[in-house]
Amino acid sequence: MKKQNNYKVRGRTIDPVAQLTILQLVQGQSMQKDRLIELLHLIQDNFGQISLQHMHALAEELKMSMVEVYEVASFYHHFDIVEDDSVPPQVTVRVCNSISCELMGQSDLLSQLQETLGSDIRIQSVPCVGRCAKAPVAVVGQNPIEKATLTLIKKAISEGALSDRIPEGCKLLDQYIADGGYITWQNCMQGKLDSETIIEQLESSNLRGLGGAGFSVGQKWRIVTSQPSPRLMAVNIDEGEPGTFKDRHYLETDPHRFIEGVLIAAQVVGIDSVTLYIRDEYTAIRHMLQQEINKLSQMFTDQLPTLTIRRGAGSYICGEESAMIESIEGKRGMPRLRPPFVAEVGLFGRPTLEHNMESLYWVRDILQQGAEWFSAHGRRGRKGLRSFSVSGWVNNPGVHLAPAGISVKELIVEYCGGMLSGHQFKAYFPGGASGGILPERLGDVALDFDTLQEYGCFIGSAAVIILSDQDSVRQSAINAMKFFAEESCGQCTPCRVGTEKAATLMQQQNWDSNLLIELSELMQDASICGLGQAAANPVLSTLRYFPEEVSAEQGKGDE
Ligand code: SF4
Repeated sequence: MKKQNNYKVRGRTIDPVAQLTILQLVQGQSMQKDRLIELLHLIQDNFGQISLQHMHALAEELKMSMVEVYEVASFYHHFDIVEDDSVPPQVTVRVCNSISCELMGQSDLLSQLQETLGSDIRIQSVPCVGRCAKAPVAVVGQNPIEKATLTLIKKAISEGALSDRIPEGCKLLDQYIADGGYITWQNCMQGKLDSETIIEQLESSNLRGLGGAGFSVGQKWRIVTSQPSPRLMAVNIDEGEPGTFKDRHYLETDPHRFIEGVLIAAQVVGIDSVTLYIRDEYTAIRHMLQQEINKLSQMFTDQLPTLTIRRGAGSYICGEESAMIESIEGKRGMPRLRPPFVAEVGLFGRPTLEHNMESLYWVRDILQQGAEWFSAHGRRGRKGLRSFSVSGWVNNPGVHLAPAGISVKELIVEYCGGMLSGHQFKAYFPGGASGGILPERLGDVALDFDTLQEYGCFIGSAAVIILSDQDSVRQSAINAMKFFAEESCGQCTPCRVGTEKAATLMQQQNWDSNLLIELSELMQDASICGLGQAAANPVLSTLRYFPEEVSAEQGKGDE
């Protein structure tokens, strides 16, 4: 019998219309694979979503498999993947569900929106959008609405006010130059300030990594300088830790002070290529930085390193340095095992100087005013300045620059105008969602790196959230754990399963403290990165300092 020809094309065939659409869309774009996330943003921005057909066509253009593109697109919260070309919603409203917004009534606002807005409006409950001082916050399109109400949100939708903008008073290039900007960098370029002197100044100033790690900035420059060239730099502006908004504050007010720090670092460490990784929520900052970098390039032709802006896509874990590097390379933001450290093998396999934005912001001032100027600040034996992002029940929340080692009670009274009327100070998160929770009776301890370990906490990025007698610490701890469960990259089982399990256990009326402690120890001991290692802090703090909120007696009727 004659054998039948069963040949047929395997796999998904590319829709010619989708292929043509993508071809036109990416015209003029660099099609390097590490730009995958940028290209996915292009599709998302144009169509309000990413269809499988468009994704397939993009994979074809990039000469990548569909699964490689899909696994990246589906990793990030800001890509809305759809099966077909269904009509996208007219507008998306994102309502922040993090701790400060929850304290200020986020869940009522979300319910009102769900009951009121039409089906052509997509409503999403999302993690911290970096505006905790003005909670609750909703983002309409890309327009952040602070102290959001149903009325304000409906008004923004009806007026088509969907864009983000930089607040008045931002010091742009002309004004920065007029105020003596870029002279310190020029002095470095001209050899008037030599590299060794600069590194020594930074080391003796006690400037430390202000993203949370607290590693000496000067020592880091020395280590990366000793690595073989080409060396690269990656700057972390992903501040996703709930409660943190200091980087946004400095970029919205004085962006060139930061850029000058970048240029000095590049000059001293011998770096030709710098990538700025900015969280997707900071749309206006991203556009402003690009414009200012363009102006700077025209002013100082051929003197700048390559400055590339990369856009995050809604993933907290990309604030972890190696996860950010993976993301810049166009991959899922999964933390790497260390060693090797990124200073040795970082971006694209090269030695990489990785910094939080604020660490670079202080470089110019330290070099101009001297190491002593910075290190002379401090209380309780601590040295330097810290930018506290304060939110919660105080009269004057916001970014407050205060001496390292200040106590939270001093911070509330001296910088935040005291507690809001009708609220008594009860507890605080000293370092965002991951830094643990402390009671009022520990309100006199020094806030700084290395001072809070004995209390089971850390300062991290100095995001201080103030809770009052009207709040449930237990509820805020649950909020934090749900956040970690949502944001775990899933790479290691203790973190992926442990955070989910803990979030479930914590919602029981009475907490099973033995099981939660066992689970916490497992996450701390066996997780690859800081997310899994710190996720247990709010649980353990609640058990240690607020047992009455989770015990059999007090827990009844708590929720
Ligand atoms: Fe990912 Fe969590 Fe493991 Fe970190 S600890 S690598 S977030 S699974």
